[in-house]
Parts: sequence; C-alpha cells; structure tokens
Amino acid sequence: MLITHDTRCALEAVVDLVNTAPEDESAPDGLPDVAALTDFVRSHQISDVGTLSEFDLSAVRKVRGRFAAVFSAAEARIAAGLINELIAAAGTTPRLTDHDGYDWHVHYFAPGASVADHLAADCGMALAFFVVAGERERLRRCEAPDCRRAFVDLSRNRSRRYCDSRTCGNRLHVAAYRARRKEAAG
Ligand SMILES: [Zn+2]
Ligand SMILES: [Zn+2]
Repeated sequence: MLITHDTRCALEAVVDLVNTAPEDESAPDGLPDVAALTDFVRSHQISDVGTLSEFDLSAVRKVRGRFAAVFSAAEARIAAGLINELIAAAGTTPRLTDHDGYDWHVHYFAPGASVADHLAADCGMALAFFVVAGERERLRRCEAPDCRRAFVDLSRNRSRRYCDSRTCGNRLHVAAYRARRKEAAG
C-alpha cells in the first residue's frame, strides 16, 4: 500500500499518542499537562494549532482512548466503527496540498480545527486506509507480555511482533535463548 510522508507522520503521531496512555490507574499519564501536550504537538509537527488549553488536553485524552481501542480491536468491523466515530466527531475538510515541498497529498482536518479534532481527522484517515487496504492487522500491540504498546507493522510480510526490537524483541530473544540453554544443559 502507498504510504505518503503525511500518512507516515500521522501514524507516528497516533502510535506515540496511544502509548502516552497510562497502562493502569496507578501509572503516570504520558500527557500529564498542557506543557506535555504542547511538546507532543511540536515534536510531531502538527500544523495550524494555536495556543493549547486544559480543554485541549482533556479532548486529546478522549481521542487517545478511542485510538487505543482501534489498536486493540478484535476485528476490522470494530476498528471501522471506532474510526468512523472519530472522524465524524472531528468533522473533515479534505483538501489537496503540496506544502513544504512535499508531493500532492490530502489533509483532512477542518480549517481552525482543535488539536484533538486535527488528530482525530488526519490520524483517523491514516488508520482508515489500513482497513480499506485489508491491512488492519498491521495496527497492533507488542506481544511482549508486560508491554502491550501500540505500533504499526510496516514490514513487508507483517512479521513484526514487538514494539521496538531493541528493547522488547531483544529482551524476549535473550529470555528464549537462556531457556533453550537451560533445557540443553538439564
Ligand atoms: Zn501535509
Ligand atoms: Zn514492547
């Protein structure tokens, strides 16, 4: 499937957003305050967003919860329903743009959209294309038992199992290697 520059950015943004959610009620929130949200917006180069407020923070956290559910959805129909809700609530104004030297691509957020609506529209559409392409299973969660972080598997044969092979993948490979050695020795 075709993954344009903007789609890639939207995917990175939505994965990072989902992974700021606390794993349980005792864990700290990765988006604790407006300053953290401002950093998130800056580092993901989310354009046309004005000064952020507490209202934006709670709206983004709400959107984050819905995106998190997309990555946990058991089947495409459930993911599609969630994405439809996100996009409908945000309102979209698709328009072609070639800003900043990128090739022609479509932006979906409405002019003047809040940061939450911007994320819901453009990240929602980025995820929608995976459903359309029959590639919804690429939106998944890490298989390391104590991790479950969201990621998008862009490998050719959809073989990626861990959020970050340098940490989770390695950790499990080492554990499996030790277990095999123990078995061989015992
Ligand atoms: Zn763009
Ligand atoms: Zn992981």
